[in-house]
Amino acid sequence: MRGNDAAKDMTISKLYRGRFAPSPTGPLHFGSLVAALGSYLDARHHRGEWLLRMEDLDPPREVAGAGDLILRTLETFGLEWDGPVVYQSQRAVLYENALAQLERADHLYGCACTRREIADSAVGPDNSRIYPGTCRAGLPPGRKARTLRVRVHDNNITLTDALQGQMQQRLGQAVGDFILRRAGGLFAYQLAVVVDDAEQEITHVVRGADLLDSTPRQVYLQQLLAYPTPGYLHLPMAVDVRQDKLSKQTFAPAIDAQQCTATLCQALTFLGQPLPDAASEASPAELLRWAVAHWDRAALPAQRMRDAPPQFQYDSTERE
Ligand code: GLU
Repeated sequence: MRGNDAAKDMTISKLYRGRFAPSPTGPLHFGSLVAALGSYLDARHHRGEWLLRMEDLDPPREVAGAGDLILRTLETFGLEWDGPVVYQSQRAVLYENALAQLERADHLYGCACTRREIADSAVGPDNSRIYPGTCRAGLPPGRKARTLRVRVHDNNITLTDALQGQMQQRLGQAVGDFILRRAGGLFAYQLAVVVDDAEQEITHVVRGADLLDSTPRQVYLQQLLAYPTPGYLHLPMAVDVRQDKLSKQTFAPAIDAQQCTATLCQALTFLGQPLPDAASEASPAELLRWAVAHWDRAALPAQRMRDAPPQFQYDSTERE
């Protein structure tokens, strides 16, 4: 490392707090391991902290035992986090307080629309419907609020991602007023992630590029709630031959904790990182130590999507 970089590194190190925030909807697959590894290495390389937050806000999508299995798998890979694991399911008061703050400033309104009622609206960048504003000026007569939405305006939200570069989005056109409290009273991901990143004093968010299109919404909420905006770095997302994100829905196989060294090598290669000599004979702990020391943001592929190694993909030609 050159002298200047080393000096800069020391400055960052005192101020770095990162996190990995899995949803317990299934075991870790290659794509989620890449997100865990990338955020871990970036944090540890900068001598920062790395926290673990379980995003268990959606009981219907949760798989029993998946949260614990994710934690055990991370441990087996040697990805050790700092402090206690935080569970979103235990933090309702924080989300309520944030909603109350937004409510007081008149940023929220109740919305009666069902999914079916907005099914004809245009689709935004993340495939969700752009809300046409039906309930913005008040609920239609005789209808009850099902969800709470935040008003957006047509200003440009801009941000610079450390890997993907400059990004801008006009929330009014791209997303519309979006949901912060879902039907049935569940808190929306966009609200919880912003509250938690601020409350946990996260300074650097390193995660998969599938969440890049959500980031302007998160920056907007940070502005409304007077929270700082962390630095963002969106890693390439692992996709299968159909260019679908590896996930439970695409039957991505769980990673095999018996094959830690080989899997870590594949994840490092996916992230464009070098491997040490005789990497295949290293223990996971040795490999991680080496990877922390040699982590190089400049070597990361600046793509939103990259093919996962074939053995981590479901043979999608048979998926019909
Ligand atoms: N819980 C989200 C997921 O598993 C990630 C949230 C985040 O990193 O902001 O996709």
